[in-house]
Amino acid sequence: MLDSNASVLLIYTGGTIGMVEDVNGALIPLDFTALREFVPELKRFQFWIDTIQFEKPVDSSDMNPEKWSKLVRIIQENYARYDGFVILHGTDTMAYSASALSFMLENIDKPVILTGSQLPIGKIRTDGRENLLTALEMAVDKAPDGKPIVTEVCIFFQDLLMRGNRTTKINAANFKAFNSFNFPVLAEAGTKIRYRYDLMHRPLPHSTPKFHYTLDPKVAIVKIFPGMSADVLKANSAILHLKAIVLETYGAGDAPGDQWFLDIVDEWIKKGIVVLNVSQCASGSVNMDLYQAGKSLQEIGVLSGYDITTEAAVAKLMFLFGLGLTRHEVKIALKMSIVGEITVD
Ligand code: ASP
Repeated sequence: MLDSNASVLLIYTGGTIGMVEDVNGALIPLDFTALREFVPELKRFQFWIDTIQFEKPVDSSDMNPEKWSKLVRIIQENYARYDGFVILHGTDTMAYSASALSFMLENIDKPVILTGSQLPIGKIRTDGRENLLTALEMAVDKAPDGKPIVTEVCIFFQDLLMRGNRTTKINAANFKAFNSFNFPVLAEAGTKIRYRYDLMHRPLPHSTPKFHYTLDPKVAIVKIFPGMSADVLKANSAILHLKAIVLETYGAGDAPGDQWFLDIVDEWIKKGIVVLNVSQCASGSVNMDLYQAGKSLQEIGVLSGYDITTEAAVAKLMFLFGLGLTRHEVKIALKMSIVGEITVD
């Protein structure tokens, strides 16, 4: 159901979608006021669209916690005024940003949808137009009871609306650039938009949104590989004030059984670093009970990341430590789903 009094705030952060070719064929950011010229269909929507942009649009490789806080500020300041928010963002780190925002925008009851494109909006074959138009429509769509259908941070890309903290960028060239491997899509846009109402994350009843600004970036990702040497692994022990390591392991959470390997990980844990086991596989879950290679990690205190993505693991750890929680409290929170980022029975 479309509400003709509805309004959306379209936030442009940068990325390919907002680029046009200059006279030499190089891609440069579009002056956002020209967007309506490139997407004349915007005028045909029956709802109001306001736009706001980062003073300096960025390639999403430059995204960071500071810029995520800026997005939180924009959304908080405009929260009451709009029915929904669409964030135009580069695809490279969109899954990280969507994950971070899913934690920072606690208990929201309106859609926050990130989208972008593989081809600039100024190109004839752009995928940006469809992505933008459908994301805008989803941002104002209401259920028959008049309430927003989407009440969480999502990515919309190539016909699919996905829970933001479940997404991963899977392709550097194809229009189907994102996937949600461990959670079903929240909506599919064909001739009709088919929403999975039953899967949407809903805010807690009788409570209001809470906007979080502080993340603690003292987090590292360590991806293991056959042949990894002790000095490479040990180099992480030298990082000052490190709070957490996302340990990217094999399959169901397995790692080498070599004593030197376990000793180094044990040393991290004894130093107070939280070590979270996340699988290198795109799909499936960590289960450290399955093989001895996983059991040994569990025995020294490595925590299961369950079926979390690396992007969401990094964001969740930054968020939890940013809240000022103790290590013990962080460990408890990692076992729980905060905004649907892990599947727990
Ligand atoms: N490098 C670009 C970015 O992430 C790629 C894109 O937008 O698709 O900002």
